[in-house]
Amino acid sequence: MSDYKMSTKCVQAGYTPGNGEPRQIPIIQSTTFKYATSEDMGKLFDLEASGYFYTRLQNPTNDYVAAKIADLEGGTAAMLTSSGQAANFFALFNICECGSHIVSSSTIYGGTFNLISVTMAKMGIDVTFVSPDCTEEELNAAFKENTKAVFGETIANPALTVLDIEKFAKAAHEHGVPLIVDNTFATPVNCRPIEWGADIVTHSTTKYMDGHGAAVGGAIVDSGKFDWMAYADKFPGLCTPDESYHGVTYAEKFGKEGAFITKCTTQLMRDLGCIQSPQHAFLLNLGLESLHVRMPRHVENGQAVAEFLTSQPQVNFVSYPGLPDNPYHALAEKYLPNGGCGVVSFELKGGRAAAEIFMKHLKLAAIETHVADARTCCLNPASSTHRQMNEEQLREAGIPAGLIRISCGLEDKEDLIADLAQALAAIG
Ligand SMILES: *Cc1c(COP(=O)(O)O)cnc(C)c1O
Repeated sequence: MSDYKMSTKCVQAGYTPGNGEPRQIPIIQSTTFKYATSEDMGKLFDLEASGYFYTRLQNPTNDYVAAKIADLEGGTAAMLTSSGQAANFFALFNICECGSHIVSSSTIYGGTFNLISVTMAKMGIDVTFVSPDCTEEELNAAFKENTKAVFGETIANPALTVLDIEKFAKAAHEHGVPLIVDNTFATPVNCRPIEWGADIVTHSTTKYMDGHGAAVGGAIVDSGKFDWMAYADKFPGLCTPDESYHGVTYAEKFGKEGAFITKCTTQLMRDLGCIQSPQHAFLLNLGLESLHVRMPRHVENGQAVAEFLTSQPQVNFVSYPGLPDNPYHALAEKYLPNGGCGVVSFELKGGRAAAEIFMKHLKLAAIETHVADARTCCLNPASSTHRQMNEEQLREAGIPAGLIRISCGLEDKEDLIADLAQALAAIG
């Protein structure tokens, strides 16, 4: 469906029923698939024929939805994973191994920061974090002989920095490695990182793509543009025979368009098994069908809430790339011309105590460890995700005690602002 506009793709891409077939994507609730002869099945194992044999590797429901996401992002292949964490781990581990090195933006989701800096370190994979605002020289200086990938988030959760995708893509390509961009917060409706040079795009589909707080999931999309064979010595997993898969050389057999996702499926899904359930894929697709309608409303509410908070005496600062005085406003105008997302951060002057009173009085915005939901929710990191830190440690981490992250849902913005106003008034 690549000639259609975004809205049409959100509704219809990925699955086109034949005559008399179900209009909605069928949930193929089956772990396994039947074949007439062992020879038929053998061809699947040899990757000589395409088809399904076991849902830990692939399932038709998942593939319909992955094909839609590939189309939305402008990629050539995609796969679903059980969570966003699994998506980022698989995307990196598909090309990294013990002894590899990653260059990553420092302002990334806490779970991904931990994944890379702690868990992948235990596997012998090293990382250099760089500020998303670093100069080209600083960025280039972070690379090593063994660097295999560059990683960043289009709009970082929760820092709300905007990645200069072209700057990061240029540095990655000059060093012969791909740029992996986590596009969870922007979604392809507001930014398509591949058009700016990203090679692999990942998602926590748990957030806006599902959009209803119903199903944890992830996705990986390949642009099909990175020439693995041109850097064959860096990527032996893609460019030399895989003895665990009958000697197939992925980059040769599946080309630039298919090698990355095929290897990720046949090796990582086979061995690690973080597959999304077909039920979740079905729910995810329901979310995708309205993504293009929901995102503009999330942005409208985020912008209205950010502007309202800016003018309140109890508020110290508001962080939202859509505000003209935000340090990322120029990058947001370039990469996110239709707006970014509905997540806004702000600091209450009264610190942790003020945050406590404020949040207790909110009626519409629920206190949750979640973002990007149809229902507005908020979180005070100092009393939840970061509660083990004292005031000084919080300051050092750039998370003031009075910081609140609010994820604006799809409610009426006047109701949301009235709710915030009465909770601010309660602080006194
Ligand atoms: C939530 C999130 C993740 C992790 O996704 P899960 O689905 O919770 O595993 C990764 N990246 C970003 C940007 C996120 O917001």
